[in-house]
Amino acid sequence: MNRRDFIRVSAASGASLSAAKLLGQVTPGATPASPSAASSPAPTAPAGSATGATVSIPVAVSAVAGPDYETALDDMRARGRVNAVLPFIYTHETARAGIPTAQLRGGNFAIPHMEYYKDAGLTYEDMRATDYGDLDVLGRLIPAAQKRGIKVFPWILEENTRPRIANWEKLYEVDWTGRRATAHPGGPCTNNPYYRNFTLGLVEDYCRSYDIGGLMWGSERQGALFNALGLQHGNGEASRNRTPLVTCFCEYCVKKAKDQGIDAERARTGFSELSKYVDATVARQRPTDGYFVTFFRLLLKHPELLAWDNFWVQSRNQLMADIYAKIKSIKPAIPVGWHQWQNASFSPFHRAEIDFADIKAYSDFVRPAVYNNSAGGRMKTFTDNIQHNIFGDLPASQANDVLYHLLNYQEAPYDQVTAAGFSADYVAREVRRAVDDLAGSATQVWPGIDIDVPLERGGTPCTPAGVKAAVKAAFAGGARGVILSRNYIEMNPDNLSAAGEALKELGA
Ligand SMILES: [Zn+2]
Repeated sequence: MNRRDFIRVSAASGASLSAAKLLGQVTPGATPASPSAASSPAPTAPAGSATGATVSIPVAVSAVAGPDYETALDDMRARGRVNAVLPFIYTHETARAGIPTAQLRGGNFAIPHMEYYKDAGLTYEDMRATDYGDLDVLGRLIPAAQKRGIKVFPWILEENTRPRIANWEKLYEVDWTGRRATAHPGGPCTNNPYYRNFTLGLVEDYCRSYDIGGLMWGSERQGALFNALGLQHGNGEASRNRTPLVTCFCEYCVKKAKDQGIDAERARTGFSELSKYVDATVARQRPTDGYFVTFFRLLLKHPELLAWDNFWVQSRNQLMADIYAKIKSIKPAIPVGWHQWQNASFSPFHRAEIDFADIKAYSDFVRPAVYNNSAGGRMKTFTDNIQHNIFGDLPASQANDVLYHLLNYQEAPYDQVTAAGFSADYVAREVRRAVDDLAGSATQVWPGIDIDVPLERGGTPCTPAGVKAAVKAAFAGGARGVILSRNYIEMNPDNLSAAGEALKELGA
């Protein structure tokens, strides 16, 4: 049994036997004692049980920065049986901060310790959030949470929208036409040394300066090819009526790609040709040989389109591996895991980019977002987007059916799916798929469960019965934890309580 296996076994073995306790005398970086030398781990919980599960909840900063933060922790614990809280501790985004856009400055709601941010090109002022004055939200939260048996995981969700602070500009991607990214589907560049130094510095800072219980990082983006086609859920018309940011062609990416034998100029030519195709399809001008054939011909003529897409994905994976290694070198016992953008539930193309087998070596847990209730409207918007280009030869209802077959779902038809949402069966299938993909590793699946995730127009709000069914489906699919999602401040308290009831019935 290697160190990571050991950590996971102990983490799964019940609240009374924490991994931290077992590893308490281990020097960071050293190989810990074998489990038999420390204590006999409790038997693994039976399939479908939530006994010993990590029950976590992301929370906007505002809910844990106010004077009633301890009341909020008690509420999460009482209603949701929460044993891990995931504050969006570094953010410039309004829902994650819980602060209206007009008043929000954002940044790090903990204290940046500057010795960890060498060569990140950012000052203390560039990073520190001042919305709550001198308050160190993380420093105050951790002891209050620990007193209640709750661990605190900083939850770092990459910021696609560039902060309006001058020094941040140089961390962001450059698209094939030379534009610097300001928003999704662009974002900071994972090959940019400033961004890498910032990110690795941030996780080191949280590890060394605070008694964190784990860490989750996420990036809700995909590669250049699928960005060019607008193959994502949401946005609808808006995503089709703009010139998408197709990234990244910054100096660091161009050089790294060259070292891997990928020619940036040939890729640029491919994206130039692809943009003509996209412009025509947005105008509903069917190519002579059809939407799909013409798209596929572009791939044959410009294989760099695929190479550049995969280059982006592998570069992000490298940053994840580096985050993992950094944290494990400091605190080997704490779990480190990754949020997975829900677009993988709708796009077979983005799903293909996310191969759990590729990342399991540096993942203690993965969090596929399986927001079943809001999935209905998201599915419809994805279908609309893909039906405007590569599936343009199919009627929308049939395009939707093809996607269901490709993705292995049995859900409501195109014209009903927004109101119906997805079923709990979808949750079980997606969790099972992740568990099966991770077979042979100790990586756990902690799916993101939909509790009042905002809806597309025409969606139907969550109900307690629906939430309960989703939680039970997650464990039936093989989950070892859940992340009650996506943000405590968005949740109807009755729906959070329903999640707690399901967990109680499952033995949590
Ligand atoms: Zn780049």
